[in-house]
Order: sequence, then structure tokens, then C-alpha cells
Amino acid sequence: MKTIIEPFKIKVVEPIRITTRQERAAYLSDAYYNVFKISAEDVLIDLLTDSGTSAMSSEQWAAMMRGDESYAGSRSFFRFEKAVQDVTGFPIIIPTHQGRASERILFSIIGGKGRAIPSNTHFDTTRANIEVSGAEAVDLVIPEGKDPRAIHPFKGNMDLDALEGFIKEKGALNIPAVFCTVTNNTGGGQPVSMENIRGISRIAHEHSIPFFLDACRFAENAYFIKLREKGFQEKTVREIAKEMFSYCDGCTMSAKKDAFANIGGFLAFRDEDLASEARNLLILGEGFPTYGGLAGRDLDAIAVGLEEILDEQYLEYRFASTRYLAKNITEMGVPILEPPGGHAVYLDAVRFCEHIPKNRFPGQALTCALYLEGGIRGVEIGSVMFGHTDPETGEEIPADMDLVRLALPRRVYTQSHIDYLVEVILEVFAKRERIPGYKIIEQPPYLRHFTAKFQPIKS
Ligand SMILES: *Cc1c(COP(=O)(O)O)cnc(C)c1O
Repeated sequence: MKTIIEPFKIKVVEPIRITTRQERAAYLSDAYYNVFKISAEDVLIDLLTDSGTSAMSSEQWAAMMRGDESYAGSRSFFRFEKAVQDVTGFPIIIPTHQGRASERILFSIIGGKGRAIPSNTHFDTTRANIEVSGAEAVDLVIPEGKDPRAIHPFKGNMDLDALEGFIKEKGALNIPAVFCTVTNNTGGGQPVSMENIRGISRIAHEHSIPFFLDACRFAENAYFIKLREKGFQEKTVREIAKEMFSYCDGCTMSAKKDAFANIGGFLAFRDEDLASEARNLLILGEGFPTYGGLAGRDLDAIAVGLEEILDEQYLEYRFASTRYLAKNITEMGVPILEPPGGHAVYLDAVRFCEHIPKNRFPGQALTCALYLEGGIRGVEIGSVMFGHTDPETGEEIPADMDLVRLALPRRVYTQSHIDYLVEVILEVFAKRERIPGYKIIEQPPYLRHFTAKFQPIKS
């Protein structure tokens, strides 16, 4: 078999700046060892997120020039609406400025005190929007989904027995929707099988509860189904995606992921009553229903992006690059969350930095070490992000897992960038005993990972 190459060539380039180790040490210390505070200019390979960081195609840029900026009923909206309808099969489409705006609108309507919304694993903005409404966000992923070493083809699946049990306990009337995140971002970019989606749909609908997808990475999930689930090898990713949506009553979507756009999102529904409530809130906070917080040109970029994401040559290359990164570091003993997800490789910082106790933030430590060694910016997904300091005792309550996510922006980096990344990770791994632990010297009450200040602990 021949090398799987990037199925595109480069038309526009954006220089990246190589810094010295000494410069990086200073940037890191100026940023109080929090990579969110480092300027993008001082980062060589930026793997902080795959959200809104995609490279748009020449067709998308051409479509942007066709953008119709009419306030109401613009041509761009109808092209966008048709593209989303074609891919999802949902009849009612409402544009928003990004995924969390869709969530905020939906949960303002269906959330509220006393209610609960189960999912495989809620993404952090989804959870936050549910909780702000007064409702409870409940994660019911299968047990394998919480164990970084467990191998399972669909580690993002929901535990269907747990879902049945939860509905019985809470009462269907108190559950305004069941959600499922594809792929399961917080759980390591792990896919959900068609069988599981069908199962969730059956259980939800038996209790007359609507079922929604958080569809941010729907195309990656569909491609995993094609590769791993029996009976789907001969189907196209487009057909598989359509089948996934066919079991649902609607979806929330961030077009910053699987629509190759730098901004945008949408809500999709089958039910006109719900949609009309959503439109009322949209007008309050986002804009008129035919632009929803976006410029006409953004709607056109999304319409084209949704077509391009279903290109199986692209998906094959996308998965090859994550697999290539994972394979080259695991072969040398680097511990990762297995198997690698579609959009990212997650380093298991607990096993990587065995000498750093969990209350000294092994994920944060590894994130800083990668930046210092090679100008690579990943993100800690662990005790800084999901743990907290006990206000009474001052003790650190850690998260279940301490991971460092290396998210690959779509169509942005080439194989030599990945080769460089592998070299840096292996270099850091070779001298891992020298990575210091950290303590927090200042932190805000919520979402502390964005702004907390750290200090290395010399031992
Ligand atoms: C990014 C993301 C969101 C939120 O979308 P934004 O566009 O960042 O607001 C919701 N769910 C999942 C699974 C995501 O990855």
C-alpha cells in the first residue's frame, strides 16, 4: 500500500516562527506556566484545539465571495439551509454563531430546575448551559469509556442499561431530552456505534423523550462506523451520517469542527413548535432567523464545508495522520489514551509522569514540558480543568484522568510537522523524570484552567 498523502496542495501559506529554548522558558514563566496565556505568535505547532482552526478550501473562499449580506432571506441562507438539510435530513435549520449558542437556546427552552439531561458524556459548554438553566447534566458513558487503557471500538457508547435505569429513577416527564455526543470529545474523541445510536433512540422514544445529537464531529463518527461496525463497509459516509441523524429529533452543531468553518453553528429540528420557540430566542440574542449571528459569507463557507467533510479521501487522510502520530509514539512506550480518537491524540500524563502525584498536576506539567522542548501547545484535560481545590481544607480534589490533548486542526499541518511532533514528544519522554510538578498560586472560582497561575515545584 502506498503512503496516504494529504489530499490537497497548498495555495496560501502562513509562516510559523521557530523560537529558542531560552525564549520559550521566558514566555512560559511570563505566562505563569499556563499555555492559554502564551501568544499564538510564540507557538510553533498549535494543537490547543481543532475548533475554528481548520484551513478553508479554495471553494470555500470562492463561496465567501458569493456571500449575500441581505438582512432577511439572503441567498446564502438558502444555500446553507439546503446543505444542512441534505446532510442531516432534518427539515428545520436555524443558524447560530457557534455550538454553545445552539446549546444556550435549546436548554433555555427545555432545561430548568428539577429536570435532567443524560448523554454519553456532555461536552463542557453543553454541561455548563444545562446547569445554568437549573437542570442536571448526567454522563452515562460505558465503563470502558472511562478507562484510558481499555480497548473498545466504540468507547463513546452510552450505557443503555444505565439510561433505562436513569429514566425509571428520574421519571420520563423530568427528562426533556436525551443527548449523545458524536464523537465523544470529552471522552477522548471516541466514536459511538450505529447500534448504540439506535438503542438510545429506541429507549428515549419508548418513553416519548426527544433524542438529540451533539453532532460536532458527525463525519468522523460516521467514518469510524464505516471502518469498525459490521454491515457499513459498503455504505458511503454520507449515507451513514444520514442514518445516524434519522434516529434523532434534532441536533446541536458547531460548524467550527466538522464543517471546516472558522465560525458558525446551527440547531436542527423536526418539531415546528420547538423551532419557533428557538427562533424567538435567536432573535433576542443572535439575530434574524436567516443569519443567526453570522455573516452571509459564513453561511456559504459552512454550506461548502459540509460537503467537503464527507469526502472519504479526506477522512482517510485525517485518520491516517492521528494514527501515524499515535503509532510512532506508542511504539517507543509513550502512554496514550487507547485507541486514538479521530481529531486528537491524548497523552496519559499519569503514566507519562509517574513521579508527579495527581495533586501536582501531571497533565499541566507535561503540557509545559512540550512547549518548552519544542514550542508545541497542547491542552491539559485533567485535574486543572475538571478537579478543584477544597475550599475548607485547601486540598486538591483530582479528576479521574490526567490527559494532555493534542488536537489536530483540519488540513493545517503536514506529515513533516507530525514527524517533528513525534521527535519532541520522544525527547520529553526520554527525560521525563526531570519534569517538575506544579502548584497553583492563583485561581478563579470557575473554569480555572483558562486563567490559573502556576509555579513549578523543584524537588
Ligand atoms: C466544540 C464543541 C461544542 C461547542 O461548540 P463551540 O462552537 O465551541 O461553541 C459542543 N460540543 C462539542 C462536542 C464540541 O466539541
